[in-house]
Parts: sequence; C-alpha cells; structure tokens
Amino acid sequence: MDENRFDLIVIGAGPGGYVAAIRAAQLGLRVACVEKEPALGGTCLRVGCIPSKALLESSERLAEIQHGLGVHGIEVGDVRVDLAAMMARKDKVVRTLTQGVAGLFKKNKVTRFEGHGRFVGPGRVAVSREGEADVELSAPRILIATGSEVATLRGLEMDWDRIGGSTQALSWDRVPDHLVIVGAGVIGLELGSVWARLGAQVTVLEYLDRILPGMDLELAKATQRVLAKQGLTFKLGVRVTGARVEGDRCVVEYEGGEPITADRVLVAVGRRPSTDGLGLDAIGLTLDQRGRVPVDPHFQTSVPGVFAIGDVIAGPMLAHKAEEEGIAAVEFMVTGYGHVNYDAIPGVVYTHPEVAAVGKTEEELQAAGIAYRKGSFPFLANGRAKALNQTDGMVKILADAKTDRVLGVHILGPRAGDLIAEAAVAIEMGASAEDIARSSHAHPTLAEVVKEAALAVDGRALHI
Ligand code: FAD
Ligand code: NAD
Repeated sequence: MDENRFDLIVIGAGPGGYVAAIRAAQLGLRVACVEKEPALGGTCLRVGCIPSKALLESSERLAEIQHGLGVHGIEVGDVRVDLAAMMARKDKVVRTLTQGVAGLFKKNKVTRFEGHGRFVGPGRVAVSREGEADVELSAPRILIATGSEVATLRGLEMDWDRIGGSTQALSWDRVPDHLVIVGAGVIGLELGSVWARLGAQVTVLEYLDRILPGMDLELAKATQRVLAKQGLTFKLGVRVTGARVEGDRCVVEYEGGEPITADRVLVAVGRRPSTDGLGLDAIGLTLDQRGRVPVDPHFQTSVPGVFAIGDVIAGPMLAHKAEEEGIAAVEFMVTGYGHVNYDAIPGVVYTHPEVAAVGKTEEELQAAGIAYRKGSFPFLANGRAKALNQTDGMVKILADAKTDRVLGVHILGPRAGDLIAEAAVAIEMGASAEDIARSSHAHPTLAEVVKEAALAVDGRALHI
C-alpha cells in the first residue's frame, strides 16, 4: 500500500478541518490532515475563541472584584493585576486544548502532516516545510478547511505591533493608555471589553450607525448602552481612512473629524478567506468576488472530489458553523446525506452581559414580509438574576404569527451564550413558542426568562 495515499485529505486543522477529519475516521476513512502551524486547532484554539474567552474571563473577575462585590457586602482592599500571569494562564489553556486535538488525532488514527498544503494536480496535495523536501499526498477526496485571516483596510499602515489585529491584541505585555479600535463588530467589543476592564481608555470607531451589524437592532442598541456604562466610547457613522505610527504614538484618521492619537490601534474590520498559496490554479478552482471558495449545498466545489467548509466559504465565521459543515461534508461523502440548518446556528458575543441570538432578527422578518408575534421579558424581573445582581438585558422571542413556530430568539443578559442552546434546539426541532412556554424550567434559574418570553408571545407572561 502507498503510505501517502489516503481516502481523504483535509487541508487545515481548525475546528472545521479537525472535526471533519475525526468524523471521517469514525466513518472508516483513512484520513490525512495537513496543517502549517505546529499547534492544531486553527484560529479558534490558537488565536481566536479560546484565548479571547480566557482573557474575557480573567478580566471579568477583576471587574467583578472592583465593582461588583460591594453590593454583596464584601469589601476588598487594593487589587493588583499581574498581566504576565494572566497571559500565561491564557497560553496554558490554549496549549492544553491544542495538545488535546493532537491526542484526538492519535486516538482516531488521523495522520497529521505538518507543513503548507497546496494542490499540485487533481487529487494531489504537496506538503512543504522549510528546509525539507516536499511530501506528496494523494486521495480521491480533498477537503479545503483553510479558514480565514485578519482583513485590513487601505490607508491603515499596519506594523502588526502598535497597529495590529486580534492576534496581537491577545498578547500585549502592558495595558495601553488609550486603545483605538476600528470596527464595532464581535472582535472590537470582546477585546475592547478585555482592555477596558484592565484599565485602558477605549475608543471604538464604527463605519455604520450601529454596533454589531447582523444582530437584532433593539438588542444591539441595548448592548451599546451597557458597554458605554462600562466605559467604552463609541463613535458611530465614522469611516476610518488612515492610521500610522508616529514616534511612540499612533494617529488614526477618519472622515469628518479630527485625527485621534492613541498608543495602540486594533483593526477589527472583519476577516478574509485564507487561500494564498493553495495552488487552486492547479485544479482550475476559481474564487467568488469576495475571495471565498464557492460550494453547493453539499460543500462540493466545481472540481469533482474537492470540497470546502468553514471560514473559507460563505456564511458566518463561527467555529461551530465550521464544525457542522465539516461533519455534514464528510457524512455526505460517505453516506450520500449531510445537511446544515443555517437557521439554527447560534451566535454569541462574550461581552458582559453576553449577547446571543439564533434564527431571524426582527429586521430580517420585516424585510421578508413575514408576520410575527414578539414576546420579551427582562432579566430585572427574574429571581436568579436579582440574586446574581445581574439584571441588565432581556430575552426576545419572535414566532410566526399564524403557526407560532419559533423563528428567532435574541438574548442580552447573564449567561446568554448558555441560554441560547435551548432556543437553538427549539428552532432545530421546529418548536412553537407554546412548546417552550409549556416546558418546565427549574426555579430559580435564568432560563425562566426564556420561558416567560415564550409566554409573552401569547401575551401571558406571569411575573411582570
Ligand atoms: P481556522 O480556524 O482559521 O483554521 C484553518 C487552519 O488552516 C489554520 O490552522 C491554518 O493555519 C491552516 N491553513 C491555512 N492554509 C493552509 C495551508 N495551505 N496548508 C496547511 N494549513 C493551512 N468563533 C466562535 O464561534 N466563537 C468565538 O468565540 C470566536 N471567537 C473568535 C475570536 C477571535 C479573536 C477570532 C479571530 C475569531 C473568533 N471566532 C469565534 C471565529 C473562529 O475562530 C472561526 O470561525 C473558526 O476558527 C473557523 O474555523 P475553520 O476551521 O474554518 O478555520
Ligand atoms: P465583524 O464583521 O464582526 O465587524 C467588523 C466591523 O468593522 C463592522 O461593524 C464594520 O461595519 C466595521 N468597519 C468596516 N470597515 C470600517 C471602517 N473603514 N471604519 C470603521 N469601521 C469599519 O468582524 P470582526 O469583529 O473583525 O470579526 C471577524 C469575524 O470573527 C466575524 O465574522 C466574527 O463572526 C468572528 N468572531 C466571532 C466571535 C464570536 O462568535 N464570539 C468572536 C470574535 C470573532
């Protein structure tokens, strides 16, 4: 047997690629996974979801000690931050998880190749590592799971230090005095929260007249108010045109206002699909206008046997979306079936409180002319939220006016990211708002707010 011939080659070991590789191995395929970074797990584990959540957690502890304990009758003396220790903990969390993926590969007999993968012909991938001869792999099926990288803007002179992206902002060794963030999307708000809690003055410049594009507008506005109270300054409707380093300061220019100076700039204006050096010409695969790999509903590209999933294709750039696509793609390869329900993919912003959503927003339903009923319930009227002293926010449920089927659920509030799981299951199972309302929710829990919002769809919330 040719040891470099496989049933499936996966290029990229992010949450899309590594999960696809494991699922394919479970289904009996002989799988190779090519990853250029020494650590497995992709953007998500190395420089995305995991390190950002580790720092959000640490900085939230600090904020709670500084501002949230007095009300519980707990007095605290001087609090000191050891930023190096905080960063070391974050690195350890990342290391443990990336090593965990290596362990999963071993357990599932996925063969890992370290190096840059590129197509050299139909069914053929060369793996290059500096200073070594290329290794050529072949397989009848190849899955592109190369993910995404930070997008930049013309006019921003990135030095990837003082003017950098999220990767740099996850590892600064001192707290900036003034941090300017370009973009009030998910990264801007999450990392803005981290550094504001650690003591930076944070100014967020956003091109649109709202934060968190794509999220329900009512909740986005409420989120902005909460974050402004925490000290983040927002300038909306502002198009940033330039940024450069001048001595030990950065100067940021935008249309219609005076330049702002800061000691760090975080550019968080989105991410772009990662296809550089992938050799797509060798197989005649062309990208769409936004640089993404076009696929059909089964994740097949226009080239027979070549599939793509995750951030490199269209859709929200989310780790769990990449995972679902990876599983569906390999299940389709083996069984002929494989499907992702994009209406049931939740999104979470890990600010404090969290913002979470699944399904359609009010704006989307209105644009599509779908008649809906709406039920909202505030955390302020929930016993557990009161006990936690975390009463900002609400749950909003949107249900079809005729059938009562749940079409969208939007939450701003404590542990919204955990609460949204119930709503995602409801949408996946085609549940009605009444189904949620009639299900028993333990008391006292935050989940009772979801039940009350479902009752409110029918105008019969109990505790307000
Ligand atoms: P990636 O994770 O980008 O993995 C692709 C892999 O392919 C990389 O390891 C790369 O090195 C490798 N690769 C690329 N080209 C080649 C090649 N030619 N040869 C070999 N290897 C190659 N999403 C969430 O759902 N929740 C979050 O909380 C969240 N937080 C985030 C925070 C930050 C700061 C960032 C930047 C992103 C965050 N995301 C979050 C988004 C999430 O990280 C991505 O959606 C997810 O990682 C996409 O998975 P993927 O497998 O498609 O690609
Ligand atoms: P984003 O698309 O969420 O937000 C980018 C923001 O930058 C937008 O609001 C956009 O209007 C603004 N912008 C663009 N050009 C501008 C300009 N010239 N001046 C001012 N503002 C400008 O992108 P992001 O925050 O960089 O995140 C990238 C991806 O990573 C997202 O797709 C997101 O889904 C993913 N991510 C997810 C999570 C999570 O799930 N918790 C966390 C972090 C990142």
